[in-house]
Amino acid sequence: MSTGSAITKTVWQYSEPLSEDTMEFLKGIAADYCKVKNYIYKRYSGIGSLDKLTPVYSILNEMRHCGLREQLNLPVVYYELAIADAVTDIKARWGTVKNKIGELITENENLSADDRLYLRTVLKLNSVYAAILNRKEYEMPKNAEGLELDIKHLNSLLCRLTRKYLTPPETDSVDFFRISPNGYSYKDGAMCIVCRVPRKRISIPLKDSRTFDRQIQVHIKKDSVALAIPIETKIKKHDDYTNTVYVHIGYKDMFTLSGGTIYGKDLEDKVTPETERLARKNRERHKIYTVYKQNAEDGNLKKADSIEINNLGKEKYDRQKEKERLRTKTFINSEINRMIRTEKPEKVVITRPVVKNLTKHHSKSVNRKLSRSFNAYIRERLAYKCRINSIELVEINSNGTGKICSNCGAEGKRQGLEFYCESCGRKTTVPLNSAENIQKKYHDKG
Ligand SMILES: [Zn+2]
Repeated sequence: MSTGSAITKTVWQYSEPLSEDTMEFLKGIAADYCKVKNYIYKRYSGIGSLDKLTPVYSILNEMRHCGLREQLNLPVVYYELAIADAVTDIKARWGTVKNKIGELITENENLSADDRLYLRTVLKLNSVYAAILNRKEYEMPKNAEGLELDIKHLNSLLCRLTRKYLTPPETDSVDFFRISPNGYSYKDGAMCIVCRVPRKRISIPLKDSRTFDRQIQVHIKKDSVALAIPIETKIKKHDDYTNTVYVHIGYKDMFTLSGGTIYGKDLEDKVTPETERLARKNRERHKIYTVYKQNAEDGNLKKADSIEINNLGKEKYDRQKEKERLRTKTFINSEINRMIRTEKPEKVVITRPVVKNLTKHHSKSVNRKLSRSFNAYIRERLAYKCRINSIELVEINSNGTGKICSNCGAEGKRQGLEFYCESCGRKTTVPLNSAENIQKKYHDKG
């Protein structure tokens, strides 16, 4: 197994509703974070600092001693990330300026090939570019040695264009900050984050018990926070993965392969108890709500209030629902992993999802709706896991893969999950027949 590039995806985690004091504290940190960023923008986005941006240490070092942190009383774990964020933004600005100038160089017909080569070379070398902008001495880059150039003219063109397109970044977003791993810890289902008082931490109760050890983005909502955690996954390349598998994605069993192997057996049974309970609960809730509304409309406020307090509290119901969904998702993921590990595919062939008549079935049953939502989840996870394992995922049109007999091509009979072909006498299951058809169809197309 060899490793190559990586992909980053963002995982979200949510807090429980937070107290006003906590919200005030968070807003204060975000406001200071914003101030630090603007300070950096002002001080380091000009031509004088181009040479300082990489690596970031020299700026960090200057900022450690400039007194701003003490003045704001902002803990280091926020202060230094605000600096790093701002420097990243400034670098992005420079990237934009360089691209723009690059385009103009290409379009400018008054420039010779040598002129262009010189200018492009300079744009790639920050130290040379910075020296020219600041009218300092510099060594002619190797690439540009021996070219016939009017250096003075070209350099002043470069200065002019840079002045024209370099605009300093600015931020007024005060609902966001980042926190480094040493700025938080976990205790009793809460994230405890560094605050302005030394050795004290502010507790942020979380909706789930996941823990992380990396930089976290804190997004401030009305009375809670959403945490964005960037997760990097290395893309793996498995030299021993050489098979092609043809997969029917079903409701009862998750995957049926054309060879007959099943992964995610009885997925439906894992979903169903929840859906039945949900449907029952929804009916009850609807009944209570009707009574509540009636009482409210009749002006019977006391009765209406008591119904509201006792029965319409959604919290426990939502928690239970979330727990069961999480369990199903874990099952789905571990079965996809098992399939990939066992089958060692180089290629996975499935059918494209069918999206017709969504509204027609809309009210049919909670069960159908939930299975469908898991179906989308399964496809998303399969696609992701294929990507990080360098497996090609092929989606073909599903037309005919359900109805037609994979043995003889005649239209078969389907009863529940049973498949029977009167033409050739084949008896099998709908998912297996479908997986076999996917294999056939994929090969017929060449
Ligand atoms: Zn047949």
